[in-house]
Amino acid sequence: MLKTMRNIGIIAHIDAGKTTTTERILYYTGKSHKIGEVDDGEAVMDWMVEEQERGITIQSAATTTYWKGYQINIIDTPGHVDFTAEVERSLRVLDGAIAIFDAVRGVEPQTETVWHQAEHYHVPCIGYVNKMDRIGADFFPVLDDIRAKLGANPVAVQIPIGKESSLEGVIDLIEMQEIRWDPATEGETMTAAPVAPERAALAREYQEKLIDALSAGSEAITDLYLAGEPIPPDLIRQELRSAVLHRTILPIFAGASRRNIGVQPVIDGVVAYLPAPDEVAPAIGRNLKKDEDIEVPCDPKGQALGLVFKIQNDRESGSLCYVRMYSGAIKPGTAVYNVGKRKRERANRILRMHSNKSEPLDTLSAGDIGVIIGMKFAQTGDTVGSEGWPVLLETMQFPEPVISVS
Ligand code: GDP
Repeated sequence: MLKTMRNIGIIAHIDAGKTTTTERILYYTGKSHKIGEVDDGEAVMDWMVEEQERGITIQSAATTTYWKGYQINIIDTPGHVDFTAEVERSLRVLDGAIAIFDAVRGVEPQTETVWHQAEHYHVPCIGYVNKMDRIGADFFPVLDDIRAKLGANPVAVQIPIGKESSLEGVIDLIEMQEIRWDPATEGETMTAAPVAPERAALAREYQEKLIDALSAGSEAITDLYLAGEPIPPDLIRQELRSAVLHRTILPIFAGASRRNIGVQPVIDGVVAYLPAPDEVAPAIGRNLKKDEDIEVPCDPKGQALGLVFKIQNDRESGSLCYVRMYSGAIKPGTAVYNVGKRKRERANRILRMHSNKSEPLDTLSAGDIGVIIGMKFAQTGDTVGSEGWPVLLETMQFPEPVISVS
């Protein structure tokens, strides 16, 4: 279960296409997985009705969706540095992120700020160069910009076919094939074809760069490369996954979300390269009884411990407390302990939020994200856990933004 879970965020400068890309992700994942009819007639989603009328969108602080057997929890990450504390908090509860870049503007100031915050929390990332259909879009200078401004190691896993109004699709450098999306089906239908002869040299050049970057950390790839043997795509993906986890490589995808080009490979990239909750470093908490910092392994069978990272108010239900569980499990109708406030309270109901539905859960366990309803004292940043094991997850002061933005 944990292995097929991803907690991700999307980091981007305002206008780079975070909303459009998220909507496309929810669209394609929603198409591939119908969430069972659930009883959401309790006005819990009152504040979402307006959103439903506008179509699929993400308004909840965390939205769960499914892709090829994986559960993806998308945590909303504010795009504006005015919300530094919120950005920091969301970066703490996610395990990986998609960094979106505008193909015309490259790295913009807010991306830089959030990138450095993500660096601070060692959040593994994949990159997506969006808006390849815009006039002035250019993929390769964005890679240089990422290297120069973020100090990252961007490595293309795709290169676009054409650009601006002649953008057609991408070349997948791992499978070495061209992928095109059919606009008539909103990009749902894809066709794969061998790389055309006129693009073969460029594709080979960028595949070499990818292999070269990977060989720095992979003996298996170096050996095959030196022997002149072909490198199996699965080995490339496996080594890339490890490089992403260690933040030594930022794999870059390309596309134009608004034109439905290139979104599905990014979702595949989330599953393939971003880590599961138990693959990242354990959370650190302060054990108040012993007055010492401890590591909290992601263990569903451990003592219950979770962080309230966002509270949204609903007229009918009161506070919707978004909780990331780090250890153990919480069940509806049971008591939970607010560690910082030293108060016992009740988790009346637990919900999983989807883009336009909510679903009651009978347990929320380590690694997962859900909404607890019924807690009266909880505030953003509070730890919920057990009285016998008082561990506080958030004791830190939030640092000032690394780079100020005018
Ligand atoms: P956000 O502020 O990052 O959430 O960005 P939005 O998703 O709201 O997009 C900002 C603007 O860019 C909107 O007008 C979108 O329609 C437009 N946009 C988003 N993706 C693309 C794209 O792939 N190509 C083009 N040309 N425009 C896009």
